[in-house]
Amino acid sequence: MNDKISESWDSCVKCGICRSVCPVFKEEKSEPFVARGHITLIQELIKGNLNFSDKLSKEYLGKCLLCTTCVESCPNNAHTDLAVITARTFVNKIHGVPLYKKIMAQVMSQRKVLDLSVRMGNMFSSFMFKTVENVPRKGVNVRMKNPIVEKDRLLLPISKRTFLNKYPESINGKNSKKVAVFIGCAVNYSYTEVGDALINILKTLNIEVIIPKNQVCCGGPIYYAGMIDKAEKLAKKNIELFEKIEADAILIPEPTCATAIKVEYPRIFEYFSNNKYLEKAKKLSERVRDPSDYFYNDTDLINILKNKKLKKEHSVTYHDSCHLNRSLGIKQEPRELLKAIENLNFIEMKDADRCCGNGGTFSVDFRETSLKIGKRKAQNIINSTADTVVTGCSGCMMQIAEALNIENSKISVKHTIEVIDKALRGEDL
Ligand code: SF4
Ligand code: SF4
Repeated sequence: MNDKISESWDSCVKCGICRSVCPVFKEEKSEPFVARGHITLIQELIKGNLNFSDKLSKEYLGKCLLCTTCVESCPNNAHTDLAVITARTFVNKIHGVPLYKKIMAQVMSQRKVLDLSVRMGNMFSSFMFKTVENVPRKGVNVRMKNPIVEKDRLLLPISKRTFLNKYPESINGKNSKKVAVFIGCAVNYSYTEVGDALINILKTLNIEVIIPKNQVCCGGPIYYAGMIDKAEKLAKKNIELFEKIEADAILIPEPTCATAIKVEYPRIFEYFSNNKYLEKAKKLSERVRDPSDYFYNDTDLINILKNKKLKKEHSVTYHDSCHLNRSLGIKQEPRELLKAIENLNFIEMKDADRCCGNGGTFSVDFRETSLKIGKRKAQNIINSTADTVVTGCSGCMMQIAEALNIENSKISVKHTIEVIDKALRGEDL
C-alpha cells in the first residue's frame, strides 16, 4: 500500500450526508456502519489510536456492501470503498483470513481446481444439493448443515457444461466488428444460459467473437475480501492474456467482473502493488464494456429490437446493479434496449438503484442484514406490479430471487441479455 491511497478518503469532512443513503446504516442505525464511521476507524487505525479487536475487524469493517452509494453521494468524493478494502487487508494480516475465504481464494485462483470443484459438485450434486425449481429463478439449497451457508439459502445452480467448454475459441470469423468475451465464473459455471444468450445476439449481429480459453477468474471477490496479493496474480494473468487479443471491445456480462477488471485492476497497481503493470491495466480497462453498453452505443441492435416481439406480452421492471450503475456508469442503456421491444411494458420501480443487499461475501457473513436489505428490494419489485424483474448481474439475480421467494412472490428474475435474446427469437420469457 502506498501513501497516495489515504488521500482517496482523507477528503471526508464528516458531514454525515452518507448516513441518508447507506443501505447498511438504514438497518443498523449505528455510526460504525456508515461511510463516515468506516473512514474514521481506518484513520484512527493508521494513526495507531485503535487496535484491531475482533469486533472492529469482523463487524465494523466487514459490514459494508461496497455498493459505493456513499461514494456517489459524497460531496467531497471520499472513497469509502478503498478505505474498507484497505482496512480488510490489515485485518487479514493481523487476524488471518477466515477458512472459508481462504478456500474460496485457493479454488478461484486456479481454473483447473475451479473446474474440478464444479465437476465434483455435479457428480455429487444430488447428495450435496437440492434443486429448487418453483422459485423466481431456479437455484439450489445445500442439503447438509454446515458452518458457512444456511440450508434454506438459495444458491446459484451448477451447470452440467461450462460456457468455456461449450463454445469454440472463435465464432463468426472475419467480420467487420470483432469482440472478445470474458465470461466470469457465475455465468461460466451457473447461469450459462446468459452466456448462450450473449452468443446468440452476437451471431444475430454478425459480430466476430473470440473467447480466450485461458481466461481466469477476475479476482474480484478475492480483492474485495482484502486478499489483494492473490487478486493481483489473477489480474496479471488476465492482462497478459487479453493484451494479445485484437478486438474492438471485451464484453463482460457480469458487472462485478467488469468492475474488477475496468476499475480495480488499475487501482491494484496504482495503490497496492508494484505499478509496472499500471499502464497495461489501464489499456485493458479502456476496452472493457458491459454488453448492454456495447449493443446500445456501437451496434444497430436497438433498431432491430423495434421490430421484435416476445411471444407473450410482459410487464418488466429493472434493478440497477451497484457495479453496473455506479462503478461502470451504465444506467440508461439496458433500459432503452428493453423499452424498444414492442410488447414489453417497462415499469420503473421505486429505488431501482438501491443495493439489493448481496455484496458477495457480505450475504454470507451478515445474512440477517443482507435479507433485511433484500426484503426492501423485493417489496419495491412487488409494488411495481411487473411480472418480471430484469437486471444485469448474477449476484443480484440470486439475491433478488431469494428475497422474492421469501415474500412468496412468483415474479421471475431475468438477465437483460436473456430478455433481448428471447425478443430476437420471438420466444416467451
Ligand atoms: S464520506 Fe462524504 S458524505 Fe460521508 S461524512 Fe465523509 S464527506 Fe460527508
Ligand atoms: S459502500 Fe455502501 S454499504 Fe458501504 S458504507 Fe458506503 S453506502 Fe454503506
